[in-house]
Amino acid sequence: MRHRIAVVGGGPAGLTFARVLHRHDHPVTVLERDPAPDARPPGGTLDLHVKLGQLALDKAGLLAEFQALSRPEGQAMRILDTDGTVLRDWQPRPDDRANPEIDRGQLRDLLLGPLDVQWGRGVTEVVPGTRDGVLVRFADGRQETFDLVVGADGAWSRVRPAVSSATPHYTGVTLVETSLDDVDTRHPDLARLIGDGSVAVYGVNRALVAQRNSGGHVKVYAQFRAPLDGHTNLDRRAGLDVADVETDVEADVETVRSRLLALFDGWAAPVLDLLRHGTAFVHRPLHVLPVSHTWTHVPGVTLLGDAAHLMPPLGAGANLAMLEGAELAESVAAARGPEDLDEAVRAFEEQMWARAGRWAKITTAGLERLVSPDPTEAIALFDEVQPS
Ligand SMILES: Cc1cc2nc3c(=O)[nH]c(=O)nc-3n(C[C@H](O)[C@H](O)[C@H](O)COP(=O)(O)OP(=O)(O)OC[C@H]3O[C@@H](n4cnc5c(N)ncnc54)[C@H](O)[C@@H]3O)c2cc1C
Repeated sequence: MRHRIAVVGGGPAGLTFARVLHRHDHPVTVLERDPAPDARPPGGTLDLHVKLGQLALDKAGLLAEFQALSRPEGQAMRILDTDGTVLRDWQPRPDDRANPEIDRGQLRDLLLGPLDVQWGRGVTEVVPGTRDGVLVRFADGRQETFDLVVGADGAWSRVRPAVSSATPHYTGVTLVETSLDDVDTRHPDLARLIGDGSVAVYGVNRALVAQRNSGGHVKVYAQFRAPLDGHTNLDRRAGLDVADVETDVEADVETVRSRLLALFDGWAAPVLDLLRHGTAFVHRPLHVLPVSHTWTHVPGVTLLGDAAHLMPPLGAGANLAMLEGAELAESVAAARGPEDLDEAVRAFEEQMWARAGRWAKITTAGLERLVSPDPTEAIALFDEVQPS
C-alpha cells in the first residue's frame, strides 16, 4: 500500500525519515523552506552515537559511508581552568567509534543522496481531518493534501500547532557562536590548544567551548547565563518576534567581540584568543520545549526531532531526530492500510516520547551543571560521562 506521505523539514530528522522510506521503495514528498541545500551555513560538527545516530544511518544503508567520512579522533576532549591549566585531557582509543564527529554539511549531503527534495517550500499551516486528508498550506499560497504529514521542521515548527499548543521557552542560557578558518596554518597555537577534538573552559555561569570541524575549521561557542531581553545586549534589534528568534541574529562583529571579551575578562590569554580571532558572531539563545512533551494523538499528523522535543544542545538532539526518522519510516513502510498506518504512528509516538523524555531530563540537568555558579560541577559531569 502506497500512502501519500509528506515530511516538512530537510534537517537530520526529515532527511533520515525520507532516506529510509526511499530504501524501502516508498514514495515521500520532502518539503524544505530553504531555497537550496547551501542557502545557510550548515552549522557545527555533530557526534553520532552508536545506538542512536549511527543506528539510524545503518537503517538507511549509509553506515559504511558515514564511517569513511566521520572523525573518530574528534571525540578527544580537553578541559582547561580559566587560567589555562589543563584539568583533563581525554583521548579516544584508536579503535573507538562510539561517538565520531561529522560536519553537518557532510551529513546532509550523505542523507540527501538520491532524494528529490522540494526546496523553497515553506509550510505555514497543517490542517488535519479534511475530506481529502491532511491539508498543508504553503507560504506561496498553494496547498496540497496527504495521508500523513510528518513535522520535522525544528524548534519553531509550523506543523506542531496541529497537535500541540506547546511552544519553546528560554533556558536562561545564551550561546554566541563564532568560527576560525584554516586554524592549523593561521592560528597554530590555537590549533594545538584545541587538539583533534574539543577544548572547554568552565567559569562561573559561563563557558567557552571550541570544537574542530573538518578542513581546519573551528566553531567556538561562548555560553553564559543572561535574561532573554538584553541577554546579548549586543546588537539586539527592537521588536524581535518568534520568526526573528528562529533565524539567528547576526550582530556587529567588533561590538560583540568586545562585549564577550569583557564578559570573559581575566581568563587566560590563549583562551580569549578564540574570541579575538573569531569571524562572524551568531546569537543562539537556547530554547527548549517542556521536558516530556507529549500530545493527544491526531490521525494523519506527527512530529519528529526538535519539533517534538527541543532540548539543550548536549549531543543528543540530532541523534534522536535521526533514529526517530528511521524508526517511523520503517513502521510506515510496513503499514498495509490506513488503520495500520495510524496504529504504526501511535506506537511510534509512545516510543519516541519515552526515549526523548529520558534525554530531555539528562540534557536539562546537564545544562544546569555546565553553565553553573560552581564550575567544578562541569568537571564532575565530564568525569561521570567520559570513559576513563
Ligand atoms: C550549537 C549546537 C550544537 C549541537 N550539537 C549537537 C551534537 O553534537 N549532537 C546532536 O545530536 N545534536 C546537536 N545539536 C542539536 C541538533 O542540532 C538538533 O537537535 C537537530 O538539528 C534537530 O534536527 P531536526 O531535523 O529535528 O531539526 P533541524 O535541524 O532544525 O531541521 C529543521 C529543518 O526544517 C526546515 N524548516 C523549518 N521550518 C520550516 C517550514 N515552515 N517549512 C518547511 N521547512 C521548514 C529548516 O529549514 C530545517 O532544514 C546541537 C545544537 C546546537 C544549537
